[in-house]
Amino acid sequence: MDTLAQAQGTDFYLVDEMLTDDELSVRDRVRAFADKEVVPHAAGWWERAEFPNELLPAYAALGVAGGSIHGHGCPGLGAVADGLVVAELARGDGSVATFHGVHSGLAMRCVDVLGSADQKERWLPAMARAEQLGAFALTEPTHGSDVVRLETRAERDGDGYLLHGEKRWIGLGSIADIVVVWARDDNGDVGGFVVEHGPDGPDATPGYTSRVITGKTSNRALWQADVRLDGVRVPTDNRLTEARSFADTSRMLAISRQGVAWEAFGHAVAAYEYAVGYARTREQFGAPIAARQLIQDKLSRMLADITGMQLLCLRLAQLQDGGKASLARASLAKLHTAAAARRVCAEARDILGGNGILLEHHVARHHADMEAVYTYEGTDTVQSLIVGREITGLSAFA
Ligand SMILES: Cc1cc2nc3c(=O)[nH]c(=O)nc-3n(C[C@H](O)[C@H](O)[C@H](O)COP(=O)(O)OP(=O)(O)OC[C@H]3O[C@@H](n4cnc5c(N)ncnc54)[C@H](O)[C@@H]3O)c2cc1C
Repeated sequence: MDTLAQAQGTDFYLVDEMLTDDELSVRDRVRAFADKEVVPHAAGWWERAEFPNELLPAYAALGVAGGSIHGHGCPGLGAVADGLVVAELARGDGSVATFHGVHSGLAMRCVDVLGSADQKERWLPAMARAEQLGAFALTEPTHGSDVVRLETRAERDGDGYLLHGEKRWIGLGSIADIVVVWARDDNGDVGGFVVEHGPDGPDATPGYTSRVITGKTSNRALWQADVRLDGVRVPTDNRLTEARSFADTSRMLAISRQGVAWEAFGHAVAAYEYAVGYARTREQFGAPIAARQLIQDKLSRMLADITGMQLLCLRLAQLQDGGKASLARASLAKLHTAAAARRVCAEARDILGGNGILLEHHVARHHADMEAVYTYEGTDTVQSLIVGREITGLSAFA
């Protein structure tokens, strides 16, 4: 086992002292899971672009699916604990963290925030046990950053709807059981429609076809798919009752985007901790490279970035619990943490020299996976435009 890739507990500003016993206990449980079940296998999954199905029972047993959702078999964590879970999963592996982000952070949360009591009870318990997996289908081939202009249609058809359109980059879109599809109804209003999706084969959902996107250089063990919807029928009961316009979608993203900020923090910690350990043991010019001023300068700046991310994520989670985490506040966190984590991962990769591009040293995987984090749930630019609109009162999007 590569001990450099195991958790080192970086906490320069003693943030642990601000955490409750319950928060520390969940964090430590997920930390142990990541060290034991994820880190030793992650490079293999990544190289083979293999979704780790075998991890699902242990993931379910962790009891973290559903995060801050109360009831319906979900753990009802506070926002801080919910974020710490994501950070620890990302410290273990980006694909595993993204899996949790899609299933729990997006699909389950959509049902919780925008579904009726009946809809929650219908779908959430099996998802909390990870017996049914969720996906969130918003992005389209021609609408990424401007997804507010989405074109997928939900055409009224008797006591249901027929979905027509195309979606792109849908995490778990080929294997999920519960796919929340965002589409425009006959009035032009955006709604969330739950497709109960059977896997390809005899149980396939008529009209739903998916193709896994291959050749990726990031997040390789978590499959994203191109999805075609050719008249997929969903009953009226499967329309999320509280999703009436794109503003409701944004309300959801304001929460899920916070998870992406924690994810970036987790990647940065993993890369930093590995780099510190490596620099202490790697000797060049007759001494460990960690003894060199320039390496120490890099490590100090990496730690400054990490500490900033940690404090920002913690405060945002407190705001979330107090009902004050707006879309712009979530965007500022994603803007800052994704850029800072990308820097930290790049510095760590450099400190490892040639070994920095080898999967067996872990940092390369985090470095590559940060590219996906930098882009998904809104690119760096989109986050800055959301914050810019908040600062100036003027929208620069169009
Ligand atoms: C690994 C991965 C997983 C994903 N998972 C999901 C998922 O599960 N579900 C889902 O629905 N989507 C998912 N996505 C989609 C993701 O949210 C989009 O990729 C993202 O929103 C960007 O859209 P785009 O790729 O079409 O880029 P584009 O929107 O085409 O952007 C290209 C470039 O143009 C810039 N740009 C765009 N508009 C402006 C502007 N007004 N001013 C200046 N610059 C601008 C962008 O910042 C970017 O640099 C995933 C994506 C990836 C890569």
